[in-house]
Amino acid sequence: MDMVVRADRAPEAGETLLGQGFALSPGGKGANQAVAAARLGAEVTMIGRVGKDAFGSGLLEIMKQEQVNTAYISQSASQATGVASIVVDGAGENRIIVVPGANVEMTPADIEALEAVIGEARIVVMQLETDLAMCEAAAGIASRCGIPVILNPAPAQPLRDELLKHVTYLTPNETEAGILAGISVESLEDAEQAAGIMLQKGVQHVIVTLGSEGALIVNTTGSRHVPGFPVQAVDTVAAGDSFNGALAWQLTCGTPLEEAVRFANAVGALAVGKTGAISSLPRLQEVEQFLQNAADAKST
Ligand code: ADP
Repeated sequence: MDMVVRADRAPEAGETLLGQGFALSPGGKGANQAVAAARLGAEVTMIGRVGKDAFGSGLLEIMKQEQVNTAYISQSASQATGVASIVVDGAGENRIIVVPGANVEMTPADIEALEAVIGEARIVVMQLETDLAMCEAAAGIASRCGIPVILNPAPAQPLRDELLKHVTYLTPNETEAGILAGISVESLEDAEQAAGIMLQKGVQHVIVTLGSEGALIVNTTGSRHVPGFPVQAVDTVAAGDSFNGALAWQLTCGTPLEEAVRFANAVGALAVGKTGAISSLPRLQEVEQFLQNAADAKST
């Protein structure tokens, strides 16, 4: 749960300020990605953990409303629901503290116990707001069952080759690609170089998201830049999450990779055109209309 406070400036140590606004905004990368895919039509089961508190119950309710299967989201009796405390100052600058709480209470054994559930999936999507050991456990199961894995390596942190070799699609943004590869990524060429390093570690396809520029697909057959859609960006929160949810859904539909990435670019563009995280995620009809308008604009 994101708790967003707006104030002219952040307080100094020991200081109390009056703020201008407060909002609770349901989020978390996993939840955003799950809802992004569900809104497009995917049948989504989410594995995770929240606290036995008001935020936890509220988040579960939202996921249910969004048609996400919550049967495997457990509620911790001892840890609070994961939160982000966000102060936005007058210049729009964020100061964020994330407290993962119940998210990091899960163990690889909890994941192993869900092998049969994971084994039924057509794709497994993971991000790094949970403990790495759980991602490794889930990736191992997916690999044994022959299920493709999308790993969105956000927030970026060093990953073991043992995990990367089970990753079918790695989807860093430019900053994350740079951190993972240990180089600075400022151009398409840099992104391609960083992706090459990830491929050597056993990833099958690297898809570097490039903000308004779209995405770059790099695999053993070469690299392809899939341009983004020009839109008026209002709020880039959940751009990457919407992209990942959309990509997952398209791949389970059997869409070829380049076309799936183009579709995910459209979903990302629509998400940056609206404020908020879950509130900005588009439904299928909206995406189809957007793609149709883009095609019409091109042909005139
Ligand atoms: P993250 O949100 O993880 O930093 P990006 O900024 O790369 O990731 O955005 C993810 C995707 O969202 C991009 O690949 C693109 O498809 C879309 N997107 C992001 N920003 C814009 C923008 N300003 N205009 C159009 N599309 C965008």
